[in-house]
Amino acid sequence: MELIDGKLTSARIKAEIAETVAARVAEGHRAPHLVAVLVGHDGGSETYVANKVKACEACGFRSTVIRREEDVTEDELLGLIDQLNNDPEVDGFIVQLPLPRHINEQRVTEAILPSKDVDGFHPVNVGRQSIGLPCFHSATPAGIVELLKRYNIPTRGKNCVIIGRSNIVGKPLAALMMQKGIDATVTVCHSATENLAEVCRQADILVAALGRPGFVTADMVKEGATVIDVGTTRVPDSSRKSGFRLSGDVDFENVAPKCAYITPVPGGVGPMTICTLMQNTLRAALGEVY
Ligand code: NAP
Repeated sequence: MELIDGKLTSARIKAEIAETVAARVAEGHRAPHLVAVLVGHDGGSETYVANKVKACEACGFRSTVIRREEDVTEDELLGLIDQLNNDPEVDGFIVQLPLPRHINEQRVTEAILPSKDVDGFHPVNVGRQSIGLPCFHSATPAGIVELLKRYNIPTRGKNCVIIGRSNIVGKPLAALMMQKGIDATVTVCHSATENLAEVCRQADILVAALGRPGFVTADMVKEGATVIDVGTTRVPDSSRKSGFRLSGDVDFENVAPKCAYITPVPGGVGPMTICTLMQNTLRAALGEVY
């Protein structure tokens, strides 16, 4: 069994990006600039945005965080998005989700210019990804594909079973895994799937993205499979300073001995998600996509 080290892989990718950026800056170009819009003071969102700022530093990017209070109106937020869309100094921006309930997330997502939508959430980017056109990839799925590539895990003709069909993980990952060049045979499972364990046992690559700690047990995994654990559920843990620990969707202890490769939680898929955001921002700055 080999552990897939997302932390190390993401550090390498950020170093590669930093090298490209340093070379461009030496040629007189400005550094790529990512803006994060943060509404309210949600603990999780604060952490995610802080990590994105840190990743920007590691990549040699400029980053700006624009804060708005919880009671910001949808019109005010749309006005800010319009400004960012038209600001030539901003290569890409994200509006950290979730947003307060009085704001329509879909309307906000669709207000972002696809050419600046480095989260890859705009339907134009989602659609372009699904038909294999240049686009900003959705962060977690592209991070997973990058891990498979860097660990030389074969995908062509392999059975890839994904548990979960969310718009941010399951669906876009299915679209990526079945693209020409990756060539997996993809099955997507969800809460209505019958004989789930049996379907999972067919998987050469099993991706768990449902948000239920320890859901994937050893009897659901084929000997020699690759298991990718996307789950990150906060489980109360009084022995930690934070009061919680992150738990994956896989019963790691019992599943790992059966696997060829497996991702840990934390330190597997999580760090790769931010890497895609950095890659998308660099591509936005280089004008590689639009
Ligand atoms: P989500 O929107 O909550 O969707 C969960 C999916 O799992 C749904 O499609 C649901 O089916 C399916 N599901 C739930 N219970 C199931 C069961 N018993 N059997 C089969 N399918 C079941 O999930 P998400 O946003 O994709 O997130 C999933 C997990 O990944 C969460 O723990 C989240 O924190 C984590 N995550 C991690 C990262 C990262 O960077 N590491 C990024 C994104 C998400 P239905 O559609 O039928 O309800």
